[in-house]
Amino acid sequence: MPELPEVENLRLGLVRVIVGQKILGVTVTKPKLVSSKGTLRVASHGKKDEFLKGLKGEYFIGVERRAKNLIFVLSHGKIILAHLKMSGQFVYQASDNKKSVMGGHPIELSETKLPNKHSHIIFKLEHGTLYYNDTRMFGYLLYYKNAKLFENENHFKLLGLEPLSSKFSPKYFGSELKKKKGKIKAVLMDQKIVTGLGNIYADESLFEAHIRPDRSASSLSLSEVDRLYKAIIRIIRRAIKVGGSSVATYRLLDDTRGNYAREHKVYGKAGKKCVNCGKQLEKTTIAGRTTIFCPRCQK
Ligand SMILES: [Zn+2]
Repeated sequence: MPELPEVENLRLGLVRVIVGQKILGVTVTKPKLVSSKGTLRVASHGKKDEFLKGLKGEYFIGVERRAKNLIFVLSHGKIILAHLKMSGQFVYQASDNKKSVMGGHPIELSETKLPNKHSHIIFKLEHGTLYYNDTRMFGYLLYYKNAKLFENENHFKLLGLEPLSSKFSPKYFGSELKKKKGKIKAVLMDQKIVTGLGNIYADESLFEAHIRPDRSASSLSLSEVDRLYKAIIRIIRRAIKVGGSSVATYRLLDDTRGNYAREHKVYGKAGKKCVNCGKQLEKTTIAGRTTIFCPRCQK
């Protein structure tokens, strides 16, 4: 699943290719993807019609991000809220094939021809086509005809701060962690204090901060909070800069790939030697997720 750096890179890529373009037409083959969010979604043909009619003829004027949500801002104050969830991906292909942007869940090589059977939402633009593909269909694109309707839904009320915002400070982080009973890794991943850390960046940040992932969040000392805070910011910044972590067939603008995977020190490296001390990295499960750590470096 893409984490914050991957979604941010997708956003940056989309800004470069779709902003300023007019939507000539939209196709939706799976109405449930535009009906509502949540797991027990029912397809609404009314919502689908609203999506198609509301977007045709509008222009993309910006793409914003909150945690792992993408917010497409359109002319006339219209908004699309998109979340890729487990298996969503956006792919933009220019009509002249010179520019393409892909991001989100890795694309299968057999499915690089577009549209494919997973292309459930297709935006025909003036100079190219934007596809939303989703194999498992947990993702969603919700349409709002104005900002007020969007804000009324309060989609982000359970989310903590953005890790790179100025509000996210060691003081805030420390006082919020003190209130938490869970394990530090689970608390990082639940998005309620700080957003954007999934399995990869939680493991990498805890390794860099020398903190065991199974420590109780409230037990961290001031200096440990400070180390973890710095590790999160450094790692998220670095991962955004080099294009995120997605591997294999995930590609960014102009066919370059996300390179942060090369810098992973623990994620995906169970049984390998710790880069700091040489001890074998261990594997455990926290909040249902495979967790890798160094039993010597992380206390
Ligand atoms: Zn070590």
